[in-house]
Amino acid sequence: MTETVTNWAGNITYTAGELHRPHSPDALAALVADSAKVRVLGSGHSFNEIAEPGAGGVLLSLAALSPVLDVDSAAGTVRVGGGVRYAELARLVYAHGLALPNMASLPHISVAGSVATGTHGSGVGNGPLAASVREVELVTADGSTVTIGRGDERFGGAVTSLGALGVVTALTLDLEPSYEVEQHVFTELPLDGLDFETVAASAYSVSLFTDWRAPGFRQVWLKRRTDQPLPDFPWAAPATEKMHPVPGMPALNCTEQFGVPGPWHERLPHFRAEFTPSSGAELQSEYLLPRTHALDALRALDAIRTTLAPVLQVCEVRTVAADEQWLSPAYGRETVALHFTWIEDTAAVLPVVRRLEEALDGFDARPHWGKVFTTPATALRARYPRLGDFRALARSLDPEGKFANVFVEDVLSG
Ligand SMILES: Cc1cc2nc3c(=O)[nH]c(=O)nc-3n(C[C@H](O)[C@H](O)[C@H](O)COP(=O)(O)OP(=O)(O)OC[C@H]3O[C@@H](n4cnc5c(N)ncnc54)[C@H](O)[C@@H]3O)c2cc1C
Repeated sequence: MTETVTNWAGNITYTAGELHRPHSPDALAALVADSAKVRVLGSGHSFNEIAEPGAGGVLLSLAALSPVLDVDSAAGTVRVGGGVRYAELARLVYAHGLALPNMASLPHISVAGSVATGTHGSGVGNGPLAASVREVELVTADGSTVTIGRGDERFGGAVTSLGALGVVTALTLDLEPSYEVEQHVFTELPLDGLDFETVAASAYSVSLFTDWRAPGFRQVWLKRRTDQPLPDFPWAAPATEKMHPVPGMPALNCTEQFGVPGPWHERLPHFRAEFTPSSGAELQSEYLLPRTHALDALRALDAIRTTLAPVLQVCEVRTVAADEQWLSPAYGRETVALHFTWIEDTAAVLPVVRRLEEALDGFDARPHWGKVFTTPATALRARYPRLGDFRALARSLDPEGKFANVFVEDVLSG
């Protein structure tokens, strides 16, 4: 059987002519044990070749396995299968009166794929989504299952692992009591005189949006937990209509605004779970740098805004608290994340990505593992102080490199 398997955006067509969908854990373990090269495709929302198994390799999906979603209310945890997406997880957790601390802009992404790449939301006190993970279950190269939990010396490499250690069949996440969030949107925040630290800390989760067609930010989205103080935001005017982050796009698919309180999982993402935010007609890049560089980096972007704007749909600026996963772009440092949603034209976008990376040179920027970047592997390797530990972990769990593809080998070599 031959099928064409692409990522969500359609800019990557995987060389594997088949997406294997094992129906049982035993079938999955046998497929892994019998194959020379294996990669898992989650919900396919990455924009680069991170999931590409290479010629002759097996690309597998966990979508046909019975979904595992077990909430333990007493322990305040949930065990979630490797193919489950945040939208289903969040609905179930909410029904139990519990919550995740944060979500990404889109709830349609898989949990295992998201934590594998260091996916994050926003908030000076919120680490990446991987920070909630307390245990990982992996089917490793010989088909056996390995469980690695917090406290295990391997844990720092086990969650944000780029899919390089094995097939993540389940994750256990920490939960907290449920809470409500309201969303307030403001317009036209100037870059001149911006007190970034104060603005970024003005609510539980803060996002600044700009198209760089003019200086400064077109929109600011504040997500306030109703158990925290009301934000005082004197620097920009409240929006007078519901907004979409991309100027001119209808706000229908966006989560509720105007301060209407609602469940955490219906406010923390920008886009509603029951809608698809766009057709996938886009590419994305993102760079995570120490938050101390935030203002200088924003000024550097402003200086090249006439280069960025023609291929840019929207740029989003968020913050991420430091975390402890060795390959996390937020590893060991309070972080500002500079995100770019581009038009879907790779040939037009790539030179701009290179120019952008030059502009951010000197800020120790770590690219998002799931998005488009051209930073050379040598530069990347220098930005991850625990890379050697990760390499040793990958060798111990996967001595033959069954789960190492070109993307991962590039990062790990040396
Ligand atoms: C519209 C849109 C919005 C986004 N918003 C955000 C955002 O707000 N914040 C942010 O940080 N990122 C964001 N992203 C990026 C996205 O979160 C990441 O690309 C993430 O990895 C997507 O998860 P996925 O399951 O689709 O991963 P995939 O692209 O399918 O896979 C990513 C990696 O995870 C591995 N993997 C997946 N499942 C498993 C498994 N079970 N076992 C082992 N390895 C596995 C794959 O092999 C691959 O290496 C967004 C992307 C899109 C398209």
